[in-house]
Amino acid sequence: MKDKLFSYIDNAEALAVELETEMCKRPAVAPESGGEGELDKALWLESWLKERGFPFERIDIKDERAKGGVRPNLIVDVHAACSGEYKITSLHSRPEGTHVHAACSGEYKITSLHSRPEGTHVHAACSGVGSGRSEHKSPGVLWIMCHLDVVPPGEMSLWDNDPWTVLRKNDGPLGPRLIGRGVEDNQQGLTSSLIAAMAFKQTGLVPGFQVKLLFCADEECGSTYGMAALLKECPGLFNKDDFVLIPDGGDIRGETIQISEKNLLWLEFSTKGKQAHGSRPDLGANAHLAGAELAVRLHSELDTVFNDRDPLFEPDYSTFQPTKKTSNIPNINTIPGDDYFCMDMRILPRYPIQLVLKEIDRIKAEVETKHKVTISYKAAQQVESQATPEDSPLVSMLSAAVKEIYGTSTRPVGVGGATVGSFLRKKGIHCVVWSRIDDTAHQPNEYTLITNILGDAKVIALLMLGTSKNPV
Ligand SMILES: [Zn+2]
Repeated sequence: MKDKLFSYIDNAEALAVELETEMCKRPAVAPESGGEGELDKALWLESWLKERGFPFERIDIKDERAKGGVRPNLIVDVHAACSGEYKITSLHSRPEGTHVHAACSGEYKITSLHSRPEGTHVHAACSGVGSGRSEHKSPGVLWIMCHLDVVPPGEMSLWDNDPWTVLRKNDGPLGPRLIGRGVEDNQQGLTSSLIAAMAFKQTGLVPGFQVKLLFCADEECGSTYGMAALLKECPGLFNKDDFVLIPDGGDIRGETIQISEKNLLWLEFSTKGKQAHGSRPDLGANAHLAGAELAVRLHSELDTVFNDRDPLFEPDYSTFQPTKKTSNIPNINTIPGDDYFCMDMRILPRYPIQLVLKEIDRIKAEVETKHKVTISYKAAQQVESQATPEDSPLVSMLSAAVKEIYGTSTRPVGVGGATVGSFLRKKGIHCVVWSRIDDTAHQPNEYTLITNILGDAKVIALLMLGTSKNPV
């Protein structure tokens, strides 16, 4: 069974190049980064999926700034495509075209996808796969989640070729690579997951789980029109027993499985003092001096209070860094009455953000008294994350699959935060970020290795099949 899938994937290089090339031609850059959004890319993918008989749904989130006024999110039902079961759900039988703008019109509420009775999607019995996995709980739906959007190319002179035209080069020890904006982030994952899905479709095999691909909008700019909107607008889309693989981060050997993020806290501090002549600080209250002291004290004292270490993370401690600073007065000989700076804090998940804020308030009050200023702050981002357990069946299944395909032993890691996975983990859904990549995302001459696209497709196919330990 596996051999059939692997042999399809081994011969899928042309498909990988086609998918990467066509997606790259349709720059899905967010409006705030000067782009039109994901519509063209989504429409192309839709026609590709339709031609190959994959049922899908598009959930549009309204965004007037984007082409078509929407940010599209695509859901592809891989299991249904292979088993033919989709015909019985209204999701796939409703009139052509109703999926367009479904989210905007509220129509999604009437689709069976979000309202069908609990359990109707469980189908392992039909395929005869998955029954040997009794030592673990089975996932409700196995999601492979990628994002459609890409970041802008940045400084064009740093590119050796047009970032929107895929260039194939065979210049390294690891075989051919494809160069272009988005080919790794996140089209490698997208391509791998589509090839894995095609492997099932073409060989007539049925995945061992309900398997769905989710291609989200707006990941690069905070997921407001992507994952965050989906969770809000379609509360029934995910279930607690779902598993989610996000092939959108990793390392060159594919050995790290991200299961956790540090809590993220971005604060903007505004200090109000009293402006005075540079020669008479005694008549003023130096807001910059107060702000600077606050920044230094927050950096050093929070470090001391929240000083635990956790080897899951790199660095293995919480970080409290002053970052953005706006200019205040244009001249040197004035005591400034206003100050503004920001702190970027990445806190080990064991420390609730409220506890950190309490400590910040204590230090802030002392600085206010000392410098006779008032300081206010607001959070630009505040995300408390929950880890996927290290012993999650998703982690062990993925680990076994990576070992089988790449011969690599994996290890769980945490990251500085906050990834799109935190939205799901907060809901208690097991979710891991993994892929084998050279980590060229967001760089000029971004590239992806074809061996990684196909290797990751095999890992994903094994996950879809059940567990690679199963003699299926
Ligand atoms: Zn990405």
